[in-house]
Amino acid sequence: MDFISTRGEGAVSAASAICMGMAKDGGLYVPSSFPKLEASDLGRLADMDFYERSAYILSMFLTDFSYDELKDYCAKAYIKFDGEPAPVIQVDDTTFMLELWHGPTLAFKDVALTLLPHLLSASVRKTGSDKKTLVLVATSGDTGKAALEGFADVPDVEIMVFYPSEGVSDMQKLQMQTSKGSNVHAIGIQGNFDDAQTAVKSIFKDPESNRIINEMGYSLSSANSINWGRLAPQIVYYVSAYVDLLASERIKPGEAINYVVPTGNFGNILAAYYAKRMGIPVNKLIVASNANNVLTDFFNKGKYDVNRSFYKTMSPSMDILISSNLERLLFELCDREPEKLKELMQSLDIYGSYEVDKEELREKLPEFVSYFSGEDETAEAISNFYDMFGYLLDPHTAVAVSAYYNYLTDNDDPAKTVIVSTASPYKFASDVLYCVTGKREEDNFKAVKKLSSYTDTDIPARIKELNELPILHDMVIPKSEIKDTVINLLKQKGHK
Ligand SMILES: *Cc1c(COP(=O)(O)O)cnc(C)c1O
Repeated sequence: MDFISTRGEGAVSAASAICMGMAKDGGLYVPSSFPKLEASDLGRLADMDFYERSAYILSMFLTDFSYDELKDYCAKAYIKFDGEPAPVIQVDDTTFMLELWHGPTLAFKDVALTLLPHLLSASVRKTGSDKKTLVLVATSGDTGKAALEGFADVPDVEIMVFYPSEGVSDMQKLQMQTSKGSNVHAIGIQGNFDDAQTAVKSIFKDPESNRIINEMGYSLSSANSINWGRLAPQIVYYVSAYVDLLASERIKPGEAINYVVPTGNFGNILAAYYAKRMGIPVNKLIVASNANNVLTDFFNKGKYDVNRSFYKTMSPSMDILISSNLERLLFELCDREPEKLKELMQSLDIYGSYEVDKEELREKLPEFVSYFSGEDETAEAISNFYDMFGYLLDPHTAVAVSAYYNYLTDNDDPAKTVIVSTASPYKFASDVLYCVTGKREEDNFKAVKKLSSYTDTDIPARIKELNELPILHDMVIPKSEIKDTVINLLKQKGHK
């Protein structure tokens, strides 16, 4: 299977696409076609563990890897989870939670980022490169920690994570600042996630930066969902959830279901769309936004416009206005014609907006609908869901729940629905505690304890230990200095 750039650059192997992270023309790699899952495949998958399901599906895309090789990597990745990596929990007759936060950093990013280091190291070997890899990451909170954790002390890799210093939760910041490993760097920026992502992407596109980095013995890669190696492992859990529902006879063969996904950079829900393209029967893909509802407006009006206020919310990992992976969906909307796509992206660069034909959007991508949830609604969802089902939502998942109920208000839809649960509520303990008890506790670790005793749920070990770990990374820089910082850190590394 080859991978092509959304902006027209020629086909490369899966290994090359993973090594590069992003195409040199500034586009994103997409598979040249979508492999199909037949009913017989679903039957076979039903008898497999998650790591085998993962290898099975990945091997359909990563054709320069063998199934056994992938199975080995997946086994090594998913052993790091506390139990099943992607369990499906039923809350009522039609609603199911797909819990993706049982990994080492307690957010769904772990599913891909425990595996990516294995995929990346193997890809470097397969392409015969003699360079070390510099992984650059922009994070709205959760990708950063998961990437730092996944790549810590991986040989021949240096990893640098840029996060908005004042735009992540206290727990997220602490998780990153206490990261261990001789090759890891976590750097706060004075700016928001979009600033970090734009700066990082511009380093990828800049020939001069690439030359300097290459001369120091490194080639660039990405651990953001712009990297195909991040996205592919995320397709697996959508297939896996369907297979589980089928195997437990909660749906019939061929029955179409909804997926509701709390969305920021559009990576996770794009993986759901790809699962549909592979043949998973999908009724609606419900794009859930928080108060930064640029995507909701896009799906409803056909206009994507980042010229608007930016809000800091309880769901910081979704505080994003420029959703990178939407480019991959637009590529499909443009019938895979790079010229058409490039026009839209140029307009985004110049005006901060672009517009597509609303009817065409509806006709070509009828599965997509989008709803958003403001802060009050999100808080209410946490409180109500806990009262009704005894189920504790993190604020991101609560955005999805609330968006789903808004969807149901407008649509009489009896389809079974899988809501993607993306983080442990303990990562956002202060806010969650306030929503369920009505009482504020600003001290995070006190909030954690109170949340545990109030809800009679266990505190994840990774949260408990955070309080004791030393701060190892406290650098904060202006957003204009991201590029220079990357080069300087590499130089310092060379002198050690
Ligand atoms: C990253 C993240 C999201 C958004 O996922 P995208 O792939 O960026 O759309 C939602 N919830 C949590 C907890 C996250 O960490």
